[in-house]
Parts: sequence; structure tokens; C-alpha cells
Amino acid sequence: LADDLRCIGCGAKIQTTDPKAVGYTPLSALKKGFDKEEVLCQRCFRLRHYNEIQPVDLTDDDFRRLLSQIADTKALVVYVVDVFDVAGSIIPGLHRFVGHNPILLVGNKVDVLPHSVRRSKVKDWIRQQVNIAGIHPEEIMLTSAKTGDDIGPLLDQIEQARHGQDVYVVGVTNVGKSTLINQIIREVTGQRQEVITTSRFPGTTLDRIEIPLDDETNLIDTPGVIHADQMAHYLSAKDLKYVAPQKEIKPRTYQLNAGQTLFAGALARFDFIQGARAGFTAYFDNNLMVHRTKLTNADRFYEQHAGGLLVPPSEDELVNLPPLQRHEFKTTMKTDVVIEGLGWLTVPANTVVAGWAPKGVSVLTRKAMI
Ligand code: GDP
Repeated sequence: LADDLRCIGCGAKIQTTDPKAVGYTPLSALKKGFDKEEVLCQRCFRLRHYNEIQPVDLTDDDFRRLLSQIADTKALVVYVVDVFDVAGSIIPGLHRFVGHNPILLVGNKVDVLPHSVRRSKVKDWIRQQVNIAGIHPEEIMLTSAKTGDDIGPLLDQIEQARHGQDVYVVGVTNVGKSTLINQIIREVTGQRQEVITTSRFPGTTLDRIEIPLDDETNLIDTPGVIHADQMAHYLSAKDLKYVAPQKEIKPRTYQLNAGQTLFAGALARFDFIQGARAGFTAYFDNNLMVHRTKLTNADRFYEQHAGGLLVPPSEDELVNLPPLQRHEFKTTMKTDVVIEGLGWLTVPANTVVAGWAPKGVSVLTRKAMI
């Protein structure tokens, strides 16, 4: 096995001995990869082809070691966040790893938000959330790695903010960091290729990918850590399709009386406990079914229909879903009740509502964005 053979997805050193460790690739797959001159570790292969997330033994220590080197160098840190799941994008302790280096925050997947959401409001929301985690970006930019439309302006901003220094790209898995890196590579190199090729961008001693920006400095892609509290981790690839929006979300409005409940699949629930009859607007993936029922009947309804009428998750996947946990809120103004990674429900002023989400998934409120 060549010593410098690296996964074109995550940049990890390829190995064939420990299935649980970083860079594992079965020998048979390795041979196939060689023919195509692109070797993907098993984890990246699954992620790419089946949208399956496999845990990996990149220990917290390994990750901390990788990140803590940033604090010792002068660099710009580009921190990629999913605008649809800000809480699930937080890297704990990031402010320590970054040291005194400036952070440029990239809010990715902005294409899924309805056009009527003002970009300045999205940025305010992100800033508020990351500030709570002690992260203070100098600048926030919104992108869609998928469409690639904003990559030019992003690179301009990076160029301006890096002051001739290296750029480290950090982010938890699932935020679209690889997609973004691939877009950057296309833009930087003018290549119309989908993938990072190891020959062109040889990694160094770390599990990372370096993209030359000029003769002396690089853009360095660090491995993504898995954030356990993402909705995505409770779902199979098939079910994920109904949750992770691929297209712009179309708002759906429901006229509700107090004493009514909405279910978003079997993944979330909203109880309208108190307040005058009004419109509640749901912002979820367009494929996610919303069901209305009586609050008094809601517990029984869920028990009977979760995995059947209420999907996802489908019946056989239901065992992996933690029980829904209840969070009660009183609104004094038009408020979004946000289930991170799933979407939000806009609730009128002067109501009492409860939002339910799988234990571990954040339920938050914010001033209505629309
Ligand atoms: P990584 O784990 O952070 O490297 O994330 P990936 O690049 O593998 O992307 C995770 C998922 O998000 C994939 O299903 C992508 O297709 C999707 N994705 C990435 N960027 C975007 C984006 O800008 N918009 C949308 N709608 N989906 C995206």
C-alpha cells in the first residue's frame, strides 16, 4: 500500500486493517478505486453513495490535536455551518482552537430557505446562536455549495480576509463542507472535476487536504467531526430524503384552534395550548407530511400511528428514534419555534405552545424571520 495514498473524500490516509479507524477501505474496493484513480475510504463511499453516516474512531483527542494546531499558526478560519441546523453545526470549544485567528463563518444550504426570508435575518440568527457558544465571527457569508452561485464572492472575501495567510476550513459532518470544498477547487483550479485528486493535492502529515492558493499558502480542509445531536443521525438514508430539504421550502399555513396538534411525520409535534384561532405556518421539507389532530388525542394518535401514518421514520426504523421531548413556550410576538435540522413553525403572538422533538435535538424560539 502506497504510503501517501489518501481518501479523495476526507483526505484520511488509506488503511485496510482497522474497519473502525479513519481511512479504512476494504482491499477489494481499493483495487477498484485504483483503476479509476480515485480511492474513497469506506466511510466517504457510504456517505457519498448511500447518504449513510458511519461513526469513526477519530477520537475527540485526535480531532482536538488537529484543530489545536490552528491556534499556533496565523491563519484565517473558515467555519462552515448549515443554516438549517445551526445548533447541530456547533463545534464545541472552537473559540479555543481558533486562538486569536479571525473566523469567517459560511452559512451553507441557503438555497433551501424560502426567498421571503431576508438574508440579514438569517445572519443575525446565526450570529446569535454561535455567540452563545463563544464563537465570534468577523464576517458571515451565506452560500449554496450545491448551486455554487456564491463561490466567487466567497473566494473574494476569503482572499481579502486571509491577509496572505493559510486558510483552514472547519465544520461538523453534514453541513456541506465537502461539497463546498469541491466547488472551491473548481473555482481555484478551473477544473470541472467532481473530486479532489490526491496526486494533485497531496496531503501532508495530517489527515487533511491542502489546496494551494498561491506559491506559499494553502487552503486546508480539516476532517469533519460528527455532531451527535443532528436530526440526520436518527434517520436512515431513505428517511433523510423527507427531512433534509433539497429544494426551496414552500411554507404551509394551517388555521388552528387552541387544543389542536400538528405532527411533522413522527419526528416532531406542536401543541397549540392557548390563544385565539390563527394561522400557523410550517417550514419543513416539502415532502414531509403534516397531520392535524386533537391535542387531547395526540399521545394516543402518536402511539398508534408513528411509523405508519406518521412517517418518517418508517416502522422498522422507529426503534432508533429517541422519544419525543416536550418544550413549552409562551409567545408575546410572532415567533418561530425551531426544531433544528427539521424546520420551524411560525406561531402568532399571545399563545402558549409546546414543541416536541427527539431527545437531544434542540428546540428553540426566535423572533419570526418572516
Ligand atoms: P460534509 O459532511 O459537511 O462534507 O457534507 P457534504 O458535502 O457531504 O453534504 C452533506 C449533504 O448536504 C449532502 O446530501 C449534500 O448534497 C447536501 N448539501 C451540501 N451543500 C448543500 C447546499 O448548498 N444546499 C443543499 N440543499 N444541500 C447541500
